[in-house]
Amino acid sequence: RQKRTSQNRTLVYQPDLQTRASSRLLLENELRDALKNKELSLHYQPIISMQNGSLLGFEALCRWEHKERGQISPIEFIPLAEESGLIVPLGHWALREACTSLKNWIEKYPHFSNLIMNVNVSSLQLLQDNFATSVNEILLNAGIKGSQLKLEITETTLIENAELVRDVLLDLKTLDISLAIDDFGTGYSSLSYLNQFPIDTLKIDKSFVNHMNSSEDSYKIIHVISTLAHTLGMTLVAEGIEEEEQMTALQKLGCHTGQGYLFSKPLANDAAEEYIRKEGPPLV
Ligand code: C2E
Ligand code: MG
Ligand code: MG
Ligand code: MG
Repeated sequence: RQKRTSQNRTLVYQPDLQTRASSRLLLENELRDALKNKELSLHYQPIISMQNGSLLGFEALCRWEHKERGQISPIEFIPLAEESGLIVPLGHWALREACTSLKNWIEKYPHFSNLIMNVNVSSLQLLQDNFATSVNEILLNAGIKGSQLKLEITETTLIENAELVRDVLLDLKTLDISLAIDDFGTGYSSLSYLNQFPIDTLKIDKSFVNHMNSSEDSYKIIHVISTLAHTLGMTLVAEGIEEEEQMTALQKLGCHTGQGYLFSKPLANDAAEEYIRKEGPPLV
């Protein structure tokens, strides 16, 4: 038996799936309302130079404080937003919000005018008509330069729509925007692929960092990714650094930029600003 939803998607009804499907639908509707009612926020995780400990920028990460259920993880609601198409307005909002925050911080702390804001972008969002134009509008409205924005995409995004995505990424590059591959090493992009896209940065997935001092394989994979980045002239960021030993090992492998609980958890807007204030003038 099948049932049409209002979005014209077809759900196959099986008794055991029925409750799951309806609770998904409920959550999806609540997410739509949350976006409308501004119940979503962004937290900002510092990105740090492991050469001198200085602050290089932030990654904007979406948060949903649900009225009854409390914090819902983006690992749960981003896929839901992607499946329902809500990721398009959500992602647009996140970009605007992140750029506005960065602008405010730079105005208060002008010596941080080189801070870079990283924003995650989903495939569906990137493949919207005129994505680059709408990003440019956001930059102009917020009053920040393209060089202050880095967009994070996944290997899957690159591969699934290679031709189209390549064109969009080239348009973004003409705006001086940097591009990073997120969760690098967990997808299945071939090496020959990498060179066909204008990528500036590889972000080593936190699963490798997590195991690098207990699993020789993880360590070796990071070693290979590091060599790859250096060979292709890309910068390298490690995510999910929690321990001093991980930092030391990463430094030895030539990875000089990092992000993780060792340095800071993602911070609410005011706490991120406080982080900048405490950081003081950048080292020269
Ligand atoms: P991501 O882009 O790979 O973000 C890094 C994730 O690692 C974040 O999870 C961050 O809080 C977490 N993390 C950072 N340092 C550590 C650490 O030391 N230890 C551990 N265990 N975790 C650490 P978060 O905030 O739960 O976000 C999960 C994912 O949701 C993100 O992974 C990203 O793929 C997606 N996401 C979040 N916000 C957005 C958004 O605005 N748009 C899109 N398209 N995706 C988003
Ligand atoms: Mg990311
Ligand atoms: Mg990541
Ligand atoms: Mg991830």
